[in-house]
Amino acid sequence: MGRGAGKAELQKARMRLSLQEHLWAFFQERVAIPSEEQALARRAALDICAELRVFLHAKLPDMPLREMYLSGSLYDDLQVVTADHAQLMVPMILEKNLWSPIPGEDTIMNLPGFWLVRRENLEYFPRGSSYWDRCMVGGYLSPKSILEVFEKLVAGSINWPAIGSVLDYIIRPVVPSETLMLEVQYETDRRLYVDFLPLLVMEDGVSLIAKPHRLAAERHENLWRQSFRVAETAKLRALDQEDAGCRCACLKVIKAVCKLNPALARLNASQLTNAILLLSEQEGDWTQEALGDRFMQLLRALVGHLEAGRLPCIFNLKVNLFCELTPQEIDELGYTLYCALSDPESLLRT
Ligand code: GDP
Repeated sequence: MGRGAGKAELQKARMRLSLQEHLWAFFQERVAIPSEEQALARRAALDICAELRVFLHAKLPDMPLREMYLSGSLYDDLQVVTADHAQLMVPMILEKNLWSPIPGEDTIMNLPGFWLVRRENLEYFPRGSSYWDRCMVGGYLSPKSILEVFEKLVAGSINWPAIGSVLDYIIRPVVPSETLMLEVQYETDRRLYVDFLPLLVMEDGVSLIAKPHRLAAERHENLWRQSFRVAETAKLRALDQEDAGCRCACLKVIKAVCKLNPALARLNASQLTNAILLLSEQEGDWTQEALGDRFMQLLRALVGHLEAGRLPCIFNLKVNLFCELTPQEIDELGYTLYCALSDPESLLRT
């Protein structure tokens, strides 16, 4: 049998499958990443992390940081399609008595899920008492200014070509980029993007990351983004463990659908994870055989959230995870998903 005929046969066989079977086939063929590919990507990320640690310790021994670490879906087995990105977390140490977090809803911006970090006690501890005072703008710790400091260092003063040739990678900072990002080409056709993410862990466990508000108006510039990622992924995994469920598989399928369909690219992991967690509160059956039904329900739920223009975060219902989408983007996403309700398999033909 020729190749074309074989393909046609395969296609015919596929048509006979139910949505449920299609989803699992899509999962195997497109979503899941071979473990060797994941290992190579993790290795490259680790090499870069090690270089940066050495560099920062040597160049700026007094910068108050905790040890940097790698994180993201590549480390939680939630990455899909290609192993192509990771976050390098850079935990900053702040003096408790000099900086205090203010929730976004208590500011004039009234933006739950974002925070300001205010400098306190300037009269007793004047400017310069805290290392991070150099990144203070208008009395607040500015994530933008922190990213600029790191950008100067990481993009400006590290000899990446030299390090790259030692490691046998091609490394370059990505400019312009919303945050600070390195592109690592670790094989001729394999690229990894490492996102440099400064992080504050406040006393009550609130994690804030220096990732700007997407619709960055000037008044948003000092805002820190609260991260719920650790709690979201832990919850999803725990629920699956309790009932041998398919929530993580469902998340990976919808993530892949969004990654492969440009019209859905604006939906991110956090929104999709929360939509599944909300659905888990209503729906008990997440057995492997229920993937098709749950996937359809998820699509309907997303359409509903988009119609309402609101997707609450399950760890703080005041947070609207759609708040960084424009009304037009919300309409377009809603329309694409609404059309898919009558032909969900169209989402898998990418
Ligand atoms: P994926 O990128 O779609 O595979 O999803 P991830 O679960 O890896 O999420 C990565 C995204 O979440 C990035 O855009 C990060 O900026 C953002 N993010 C928010 N909080 C965190 C955090 O605590 N850790 C990491 N790694 N990423 C976070």
